[in-house]
Amino acid sequence: MLPKQHKSNEYSKAWLQNQAYFFMPDKFIPQPLKPPNNSKKILLHSCCAPCSGELMEMMSASGIDFTIFFYNPNTHPRQEYEIRKNENISYANKMNVPFVDGDYDTSSWFNRVEGLEFEGERSSRCGRCFDMRFERTALYAHEHGFDVITSSLGMSRWKDLDQVNSCGQHAASRYPHMVYWTHNWRKYGGSERMYTIAKRERFYKQEYCGCVYSLRDANHQRIQKGIAPIEIGKNFYGADHGTYTK
Ligand code: SF4
Repeated sequence: MLPKQHKSNEYSKAWLQNQAYFFMPDKFIPQPLKPPNNSKKILLHSCCAPCSGELMEMMSASGIDFTIFFYNPNTHPRQEYEIRKNENISYANKMNVPFVDGDYDTSSWFNRVEGLEFEGERSSRCGRCFDMRFERTALYAHEHGFDVITSSLGMSRWKDLDQVNSCGQHAASRYPHMVYWTHNWRKYGGSERMYTIAKRERFYKQEYCGCVYSLRDANHQRIQKGIAPIEIGKNFYGADHGTYTK
């Protein structure tokens, strides 16, 4: 069951009772979200449905009015980009959340990371990648009356949360009174719920961060381990062991 939006800063009892984690230890029971400045209008940069699903459900359950901003020109190839985007659109529609489709200006992204093609994940290339995506998010927020932005990029355990937050804060600092919300979405069972939601919704299971360089490196590691290269559009969350294929 999807969470209902309501005005108070507490969850609906019905929503909590329907969550798989309701009977988990106390440390896994989430707290109602308290955005900066008590803001109730937030622009959420989303990288994909699996990472943003938990954020979307938590924000809805906390009565926050938020809009998804999908701006990820790093994602390669286009087939992968379209799969990630369309899945996020479907889930936003299911939850009645507004969705803004940003540009797929890949040439700008390649210009931005030029010279860093052989850096790994969590490197300065990723910093430039985050900067570009957050700068556009902050610009859209500034032009459309949002004073708080945040991102699902901090949800993945493969990302350096400090690096993500630093880039987000830097982008927000370009505009007066704008704040990047540095909430740690992984805490209070957030990471566990992320996988629960992904399996429940049978989200597409991406197997690399997104850019052509991360695809190259992921395939290199797979070949070294004797695993077949990634097949775009094949694996989905949801089977008993966590993955099924189409
Ligand atoms: S590895 Fe991920 S975060 Fe780093 S540059 Fe590539 S897409 Fe961006």
